[in-house]
Amino acid sequence: MKFRNFKMVDYVVYGRGSFDQLEEIIAPHRQPSLPMVFLVDHFFANENGKWLTNRIPAINNDKIIFVDVTLEPKTSYVDKIAAELKSAFGNVSGVIGIGGGSAMDLAKAVALMMNNEGSSADYQGWDLVKKPGVYKVGVPTLSGTGAEVSRTCVLTGPTKKLGMNSDFTPFDQIVLDPTLTANAPHNQRFYTGMDCYIHCIESLEGTYLNEFSKSYGEKALELCRKVFVQKNSWDEECDDQLMMASYAGGMSIAYSQVGVAHAVSYGLGYLLGTKHGIGNCIVMNHLEDYYPEAVKEFKFMVEKNQIEIPKGLCAGLSEEQFETMINVSIGMKPLWENALGKDWEKIMTRSKLRALFEKL
Ligand code: NAD
Ligand code: ZN
Repeated sequence: MKFRNFKMVDYVVYGRGSFDQLEEIIAPHRQPSLPMVFLVDHFFANENGKWLTNRIPAINNDKIIFVDVTLEPKTSYVDKIAAELKSAFGNVSGVIGIGGGSAMDLAKAVALMMNNEGSSADYQGWDLVKKPGVYKVGVPTLSGTGAEVSRTCVLTGPTKKLGMNSDFTPFDQIVLDPTLTANAPHNQRFYTGMDCYIHCIESLEGTYLNEFSKSYGEKALELCRKVFVQKNSWDEECDDQLMMASYAGGMSIAYSQVGVAHAVSYGLGYLLGTKHGIGNCIVMNHLEDYYPEAVKEFKFMVEKNQIEIPKGLCAGLSEEQFETMINVSIGMKPLWENALGKDWEKIMTRSKLRALFEKL
């Protein structure tokens, strides 16, 4: 038995308004003439985002780049940003990602690519990154993905959708300020929040479960339930609780694994570009056979929070398209093994998976 020795985020600041401490936090990492680069979710690019962007401590030659997260991050986009920064400045003091999981993943990837040769696609996999990146900070504006604590940054490349998983990938610093999530649209907040709920279920009901994962998973699940089951309207406490749920849910899967919803949703995401949070919800809606109690609770939360979960995504797909999704999904071996045990291949056959995709 080999135990995972996992690298965590070095520094965490938590609290309402902690974002205003950002300059004090990053100041010791400023190097003469090299800028700090702020990769900010494009949602904040207009007037409505000024309440946040006006507080970004950009000084001297620092650069604010609004990143387009309409699609989930691509290796080509990471390479483009890194190449532009290299040609403009040589290198940078640090990269600060402000946004949802997509903007944070972009920041991690760009920070790594500032010090590594070639394309980010060369590093999609496990422990392929050769050198530490530049200083990197994550500032979530949506809660749920756990990207703030994970050792990966999920990227779609020319041949695969896979993260740069490495000990160099976690942020050096995260700033958890729940006030930054306050204005997120109701639907988006639910989809990303459900990513956390699903992390908890897949971790707690998986065969890889251990007391480390359980401790974090149970707490995160309790917080998700407070927010989406017990509360009748969104308030400040919900922002606080969901931010900590995201953190704890991420810590839970760091030492276990996700399961069926993620494995199937990766297939959808790869073929149809369905985004992570909503994709997980679309799949979870049909997982009664695997997580019966949780699916019942999930449906209750959908109804209570008045959310529409899209249906009929796979209607009219070709044989070849189904095959692609099945291949991507079935390739996620650790996820299946966690969910169904060592003999998972006997349980999750291609035809069963096909029948599941047909329902989505
Ligand atoms: P997202 O980052 O893709 O953003 C979703 C939408 O919300 C975007 O349109 C964005 O502009 C907008 N948005 C962000 N903050 C907002 C705010 N405060 N108010 C209003 N709108 C806001 O969504 P997500 O669910 O946070 O992240 C999904 C991404 O995270 C995917 O790319 C997925 O692959 C990745 N992910 C990474 C990990 C990891 O461990 N690295 C884990 C899970 C998911
Ligand atoms: Zn997830």
